[in-house]
Amino acid sequence: MRDIRALSLDELKDFFAEIGEKPFRAKQVYDWLWSKNLHSIDEMTNLSKDLRDKLSQYFTIKPAAADFTQKSTDGTMKNAVKLHDGLTVESVLIPTETRTTACVSSQVGCSLNCEFCATAKLKRMRNLEVAEIVDQVALIDRQSKEYFDRPLSNIVFMGMGEPMMNYKNVVEAIRKITKPEGLGMSPRRITVSTSGIPKMIKMLADEDLKVKLALSLHSAIEETRNEIMPFSEKFPLHEIMDSLKYWYQKTGNVVTFEYCVWGGINDNDEHIKALIKYCRQVPSKVNLIQYNPIGEGKFDHRSIESEEKYVRELTKAGITVMVRRSRGADIDAACGQLANKTSD
Ligand code: SAH
Repeated sequence: MRDIRALSLDELKDFFAEIGEKPFRAKQVYDWLWSKNLHSIDEMTNLSKDLRDKLSQYFTIKPAAADFTQKSTDGTMKNAVKLHDGLTVESVLIPTETRTTACVSSQVGCSLNCEFCATAKLKRMRNLEVAEIVDQVALIDRQSKEYFDRPLSNIVFMGMGEPMMNYKNVVEAIRKITKPEGLGMSPRRITVSTSGIPKMIKMLADEDLKVKLALSLHSAIEETRNEIMPFSEKFPLHEIMDSLKYWYQKTGNVVTFEYCVWGGINDNDEHIKALIKYCRQVPSKVNLIQYNPIGEGKFDHRSIESEEKYVRELTKAGITVMVRRSRGADIDAACGQLANKTSD
């Protein structure tokens, strides 16, 4: 049976016209689906029982719902979200003193092959549907209200998958999340993170969504980057930079570079210099992310000294740099650790 959430508002209106119902019914149903995130036609209480029965004859709702939730000692919560075809993705609730951030997935597994990321090791892959992305957000919003007494404040597309490889659904999900007739969240509190697909970055700039953009850089030296993120051979750093300049020009939004420092890989002066040179080409800031081990020995050499050197040199060069503490590592919920371990 058809998933009712695959229909646009106009399509819903057409449907109600066909069965001889008033068009405002479409808006009521849309509201249940996208604003209230209801998963049951039978609970649409402002529709008559007859109408609910009729709807159920034509449509179903395919929910993505938490199968299992783990809580970290630091308050981070990781949901294993079961999809209608039995596959699982993970999404993470990250609380701070004042905010709750949802880290959501855009694909089951990932089509890229970053050597340091656990998600890349998962084979099975499909794109998430719009509703499957929105459900992760709505779920974390409910959890935030229940456990932290406040609504969800921020969303980062930093879970499983490469958002730019599921572009259409990610953009539509963002529209559903931000529109007043959807979840009504501010787009300024949403960050799309990408490994860098220039054509798609430009397309996203043209959407006028007002979201933020993060780029997983990890090295501004082509050779090193291609080694640790092999897919990036197809997307040279200068092309990525062109797209970031376009992004800034179109949106006025500063780009965030995500960067891990690994001993023996990018912990030398040459790398720091290259990063500064790269950052200077576009208004940007740097987030130094703590690496979360995934059992790939070559990345396991942390050098706090070189992290500190990065911070010193970037600051000296006038570039804003933040050091991001890892969250939820004890339940494999931290960056790069999402690999459906709970569902094995
Ligand atoms: N595919 C997108 C979205 C995933 S975001 C992207 O690459 O941006 C996940 C972030 O965590 C990325 O910045 C990624 O580079 C980083 N990451 C991946 N594995 C990691 C690990 N083991 N430790 C720390 N960060 C990691």
